[in-house]
Amino acid sequence: MLVVMQHSATEAEIETVCRVITDMGYTPVPMPGEQRTAIGLIGNDTRVDDTNLVGLPGVAQVIHVSKQYKQVSREWKPVSTVVSLAPGVDIGGGSIVVIAGPCSVESEEQILSAAHAVRAAGATALRGGAFKPRSSPYSFQGLGKAGLKLLALARQETGLPIVTEAMDEAGAELVAEYGDCIQIGARNMQNYSLLKAVGRLGKPVLLKRGMAATISDLLLSAEYILAEGNNQVVLCERGLRSFDTAARNLFDLNAIPIVQKLSHLPIIADPSHGTGFREYVSPMARAAVAAGADGLIVEMHPNPDRAKSDGAQSLFPEQFDRLMLDLRRIAAAIGRDMAQSGAPLKPTGG
Ligand code: PEP
Ligand code: MN
Repeated sequence: MLVVMQHSATEAEIETVCRVITDMGYTPVPMPGEQRTAIGLIGNDTRVDDTNLVGLPGVAQVIHVSKQYKQVSREWKPVSTVVSLAPGVDIGGGSIVVIAGPCSVESEEQILSAAHAVRAAGATALRGGAFKPRSSPYSFQGLGKAGLKLLALARQETGLPIVTEAMDEAGAELVAEYGDCIQIGARNMQNYSLLKAVGRLGKPVLLKRGMAATISDLLLSAEYILAEGNNQVVLCERGLRSFDTAARNLFDLNAIPIVQKLSHLPIIADPSHGTGFREYVSPMARAAVAAGADGLIVEMHPNPDRAKSDGAQSLFPEQFDRLMLDLRRIAAAIGRDMAQSGAPLKPTGG
């Protein structure tokens, strides 16, 4: 529930509403806005009796949030949330952000080469997994902390903020130390203790949709993070399991406008995992931008044939260059622009 105060409401009137909510056994969350303050009520599982609140001085309106998820809903917060990965790198602010890089960090040479290539093509952030959730325990599991150190080096060299996955709480703390955005992968979307932990860490989170999760499941998982006081959450559509084996997953483009209607959180698309095949990645990346996505996360490898994971869906550097050019034109056609890389490139020696 949301108590919207009148424009002229005083501090004392706002405090009274908060006290009444506390006395009712719930938690008040005051949200000052440009025009007026709204006070959210959390802690309820069912509809709250509002009789003690409607008549209070300064109260303009009481809105019952109709969905199970609350703080992530547009009913709760009509204004879109902007998630800041680094100074000047914002997702959800209108400009389209492209996060690109290899599936996994494999070596210093590989990640630096990938970082320079995606930066030169105009990407705004670098991806690369150090902790890899692989279907088989015998597949490459990632370089762990050593991989995070290589990502930090790549950031130092290129200025690109780092988006990288954490699979457990200890990993999340390490990612928060070395990276800029904690990715929660599809397989962990409903790992509620991990969601709570990243909520407490307060770093931006990229929450990927589970491979059999509804949009409502995705938003409820995001609610776990916001409920811990962290609203810096970017949602990601990455395709669903389906009966059709023609592609790795069924890429649900519907999720983009639907999430934008239901939630104030930004949503980006991952056409790499969404399709699983390099040749389909660029068409679906273009489609996601045309559909209004706030950004993309795309796998690009300097040498995809030698990739230790997801080589078949990784773009060659030249394909990524071409994609970025096409995306610029699509963005312009729908009245948007592509975000620029944040920090200037480190001057090279000499
Ligand atoms: C990845 O981004 O490399 C990854 C493992 O993604 P997902 O969790 O969507 O499968
Ligand atoms: Mn991958």
